[in-house]
Amino acid sequence: MSGRERQSRFEQGDEVVVMKFGGTSVEDATAIRRLIGIVQSRSGALPVLVVSALARVTDQLLEAGNAAAKGRLGWALATAREIYVRHERLAEELVGAARRDALDRELRRDFRDLESLLHGLEASRQLDLRCQDHLLGIGECLSSKLVTAALNGAGVEAAQVDARQCIVTDARHGQASPIWELTNQQLQNALLPWLECRQAPVLGGFIASTSDGVPTTLGRGGSDFTAAIVGAALGAARVEIWTDVDGVMTTDPKLCPEARVIRKMSFDEAAEMAHFGAKVLHPATLAPAMRENIPVHVRNSRNPQGEGTEIAARARTGSTVSAITAKRHVANVEVEPLQAIDSLVLSAIYGAFDRHACTVDVMGTSPGRLSMLVGSTVALPQIAAELKGVAHLRWENHKALVSLVGDNLRRRPEVASRALAAVSDLDVRVSCQGASDRTISFLVEESKVEESVRILHHMFFPGQRDAAPDWGGTSAAFCQV
Ligand code: ADP
Ligand code: ASP
Ligand code: MG
Repeated sequence: MSGRERQSRFEQGDEVVVMKFGGTSVEDATAIRRLIGIVQSRSGALPVLVVSALARVTDQLLEAGNAAAKGRLGWALATAREIYVRHERLAEELVGAARRDALDRELRRDFRDLESLLHGLEASRQLDLRCQDHLLGIGECLSSKLVTAALNGAGVEAAQVDARQCIVTDARHGQASPIWELTNQQLQNALLPWLECRQAPVLGGFIASTSDGVPTTLGRGGSDFTAAIVGAALGAARVEIWTDVDGVMTTDPKLCPEARVIRKMSFDEAAEMAHFGAKVLHPATLAPAMRENIPVHVRNSRNPQGEGTEIAARARTGSTVSAITAKRHVANVEVEPLQAIDSLVLSAIYGAFDRHACTVDVMGTSPGRLSMLVGSTVALPQIAAELKGVAHLRWENHKALVSLVGDNLRRRPEVASRALAAVSDLDVRVSCQGASDRTISFLVEESKVEESVRILHHMFFPGQRDAAPDWGGTSAAFCQV
């Protein structure tokens, strides 16, 4: 049964709205009370909540896991206790006595699970991606239980649903992908009964499991993706991403304070922005929403009155350049195959990157050489060793990819020409045009990201007092990466 058919089972006028709250939107008692207020303001809607781990918890879990695997068990256990105590304190503040015992039992069970994982890591001296998924997922297990109890305590009937029992993925630990049919079916089976009796299901984002029940995760920042997966399975009227900024902006406001909110944009542009580093959305989020044509709204939980951004099929920004993104920690990998590049060589190379969950962001070929931009160098030594008989690998770290995103950019070569001229003093090493029409990217030294973004933002989003840009000019010669 499709999500839309399922939705028609509810009373007329009822609409399912999936609301995802990121780490900062559940970080403390004030944030969780705000969340409750936002859910209460949705009268008439059937809300489904997806929550991230409390701000910083996923990083702490990762640090604890790494410490335990290096033999620093005491430090790892102290970090685990800190996480547990933080949740307990919030429970004390937010949850009345009647519900506390049950919640305490749940939180303690997750804490024990965490402790025993850390002991196991100390013994094995190894934190592989499979263990890491189990470990990191504990943050979302804890937060979803806490938020459910807080909602119930405030009179919003809610039920915690274990996302690991509903979202079924492949076994690509660290970056798993849903098995759609099974996931849709299981989500419908698990969530619809709650919605039919008007209780709000609360799921931890980011977490899932394989069909054998082994915990997986959807990649860092994956709670946005969870929200879209749930929205698509239920045929939701919309997916709301509640975060700590006023919406999707013309660039990251942490890099450039002049960034402005984009009111409306297309799925394609938003997906491109996410792929090229706009952290506000996990890169996979828009695909299920686009497939089911479900609008995605990005809103600020600290400013719920703000309009935010609407991402929908027909929405357009109306600008040539819609946004500027930056992706840090990029490495430029040069691959020189030992024989002519053919499909077998390509598949061996791709296979090695894939096995090590090393995602290739941009790729280009030139005679006898492949250039790849990847987001992490962690696995490169192993990939190089694995490909020894097939290709030589060399890489440079500390790069960043700065991109202009906008519909039909490829048909406006003057945009690239202007942008390249503006940042040429900053030692721009490569300019590359994405496979789609919507992106023009520059590879810069990581230390130059902020400056590049500001220069480009000033050029393409001039303030009120600046003159409108002159789009005449010569076309740029692109060098494909
Ligand atoms: P959450 O914890 O709610 O998932 P994230 O930290 O993952 O929040 O994403 C929100 C952050 O994304 C913002 O604080 C902002 O710094 C960053 N960001 C990067 N690019 C953009 C952009 N184009 N528009 C808005 N925010 C952006
Ligand atoms: N808690 C996870 C992370 O920090 C997932 C998320 O927040 O979306 O990556
Ligand atoms: Mg996020």
